[in-house]
Amino acid sequence: MLMDIDRELRYTRDYIGQDAFSERVLAAIAAVPRHYFVPDELQDAAYDNGPLPIGHGQTISQPYIVALMTDLLRLTPDAVVLEVGTGSGYQTAVLAQLARQVYSIEIVGPLANAAAARLHRLGCINVEVRQRDGYLGWPEHAPYDGIIVTAAAPYIPAPLIAQLKAGARLVIPVGDSGGPQQLLLVEKDAAGVVSERAVLPVAFVPLVKS
Ligand code: SAH
Repeated sequence: MLMDIDRELRYTRDYIGQDAFSERVLAAIAAVPRHYFVPDELQDAAYDNGPLPIGHGQTISQPYIVALMTDLLRLTPDAVVLEVGTGSGYQTAVLAQLARQVYSIEIVGPLANAAAARLHRLGCINVEVRQRDGYLGWPEHAPYDGIIVTAAAPYIPAPLIAQLKAGARLVIPVGDSGGPQQLLLVEKDAAGVVSERAVLPVAFVPLVKS
């Protein structure tokens, strides 16, 4: 899987403007057993570099996209991160390897419960999962050192920008469902000024309104 991620990185290097992902991110991906997050009937494909269905019309993200989005966050070991769209919990487990604490929110109750149980069994003790609406973020634990959204929104929800620490990054796919979407890297500088850059055309499930 890491070789496939590297191959796709080389195909997309001109878009994303980088030649490599950090060793820390690659080690985190190597450390998380993806088959644990994939339904029984799809176990054979668990380490393919593609998205897979996880029920409720949702998907576990493609490993290359998980690597890219995680890398863009530039997390340090003391970081507190917000993830919107827990899904299977796979991306959450990768973040948990890299950050001090991960708060993850998921709008589909059964997915949130299943992911929380799975992450607990896997021994991820620095993760909290809740059923909540990602458009609102999770203000109680803000501000965050990084925010990652794993579903596409038609616009960047203002509460997520408000919950970002100065100097921190937000990675979010923006665009209509089924239409063109761009993965955006949003940065809030030390003075609180927000800038954004389109990194790569992507295809995500929609961030739904509750
Ligand atoms: N990171 C996940 C990918 C999940 S797909 C993984 O690695 O498995 C995107 C997830 O976002 C879905 O589970 C979907 O239910 C969730 N979602 C959609 N709209 C949401 C919203 N408004 N708030 C929180 N989660 C949402």
